[in-house]
Amino acid sequence: MRLVLVGPPGAGKGTQAQFIASHLSIPKISTGDIFRANVSGGTELGKLAKTYMDRGDLVPDEVTIAMVRGRLAEDDAQDGFLLDGFPRNVAQAEVLKKMLADLGSGLDLVLELVVDDDEVVRRLAGRRTCRSCGKVWHIDFDPPKKEGVCDACGGELFQRDDDREETIRHRLEVYQEQTAPLVNFYADEGILRGVDATGPVEEVTGRAMAELRGFTRGPAQEPDSEDES
Ligand SMILES: [Zn+2]
Repeated sequence: MRLVLVGPPGAGKGTQAQFIASHLSIPKISTGDIFRANVSGGTELGKLAKTYMDRGDLVPDEVTIAMVRGRLAEDDAQDGFLLDGFPRNVAQAEVLKKMLADLGSGLDLVLELVVDDDEVVRRLAGRRTCRSCGKVWHIDFDPPKKEGVCDACGGELFQRDDDREETIRHRLEVYQEQTAPLVNFYADEGILRGVDATGPVEEVTGRAMAELRGFTRGPAQEPDSEDES
């Protein structure tokens, strides 16, 4: 299957991407991984991307697209993949569509992890990081024995700027602005499926797999159906 996974910060997208990809035995392709592979491999694109990153600039769309194109051409991606972090906008989605059409294929489904903003804030704003050892605690889900003190090393816990409520709400707004058109684009194509991303990680994966099973016609899913043999 050829899939794209989208979801807001705090939805557990990275974890779900990994689980879903491994359930389906397809590679998880994230832009972060592709960037790192190109930079550490010293490819021309990697060197180019690095010049932007070293200056603290965003890597331009065409560089990202060229890297994704290269990755999708690799052997392990020929029978399917799960894209995480790409496309980010409608322009990239159109490029991806064209890219796959040139290869004679197309996306099967786009899964959107759906979590409401207050839940994301609860998950992220409760995080506390140890100043000494860097371990991350959570005031509700994984609290230290003594408030404000790291169980592991006795260090002082603090809230990172990234985990402050106003920062999180701002990131969510930016996400909505950027992603709403992308989600609409795929809804118009008829391949968007929403997945409720609240609750334990395994339950979310289960819901995503149920959506995919509803779609898949492949032989792997139902060994007992032999109606077409
Ligand atoms: Zn510590």
